[in-house]
Amino acid sequence: MLLEALAQTFLPSTCAICGAGLPWRGSRAGVCPTCWAGVVPHAGPTCAVCGNPEVEAEGPCLECRTTPPPWRAAASVGAYDGVLRELVLLFKRRGRDELAAPLAGLLLAAWRRSAWPRPDAVVAVPMTRFRRLRRGYNQAELLAQSLARELGVPFEHALRRRGRGTQVGGARSDRLRLSAAAFPVRRAVAGPVVLVDDVLTTGATAAACTRALKRAGAGDVYILTIAKTPQPGRIP
Ligand SMILES: [Zn+2]
Ligand SMILES: [Zn+2]
Repeated sequence: MLLEALAQTFLPSTCAICGAGLPWRGSRAGVCPTCWAGVVPHAGPTCAVCGNPEVEAEGPCLECRTTPPPWRAAASVGAYDGVLRELVLLFKRRGRDELAAPLAGLLLAAWRRSAWPRPDAVVAVPMTRFRRLRRGYNQAELLAQSLARELGVPFEHALRRRGRGTQVGGARSDRLRLSAAAFPVRRAVAGPVVLVDDVLTTGATAAACTRALKRAGAGDVYILTIAKTPQPGRIP
């Protein structure tokens, strides 16, 4: 009881997402148990290649059959919507790095659902030095490190990211220009590799990183993200 009273004195007292009082039990990283329970994982089939949930049956979607991406498979916890979106924004914009462990727990569950082979390494989508210095951390790296610990495999700083460039919110033309050359190899890898990012949007970053990882020696690359945005051009 004393511990509980002390904790309530020093920890934030309201949920960072819904604003309700934070109960002692079940709250994690300043988010209440009701909000954590509100995370909606993908239900039903997803495209085996891009993780798109808007498909009729398991197997590659039309887009993946016509222009297959360089990675072997992609999966995410759920759609970039509702509580999951709030959690990603909180983690990314407001520097709640204590969210890394519970979010990596969600990634682990998504990894298990996917039935992929055990990776030889977990890597993260890198950030430019400029952005990293300004922010103080790379959120994808925190997720990847935490996931690697859970899986009992090494986390590798396999890639660097060139330039001062922005990623989220960058101009569409910048995203399209993104190539593997933007991600120089920092360290060799081998075997199957899981590449972690927070959100899979157009897939341009994941594709460029996959090509760079193959140059670094990786076998199959598997993309694992917290959330997936709807396919571009489709109505959400
Ligand atoms: Zn809440
Ligand atoms: Zn697909």
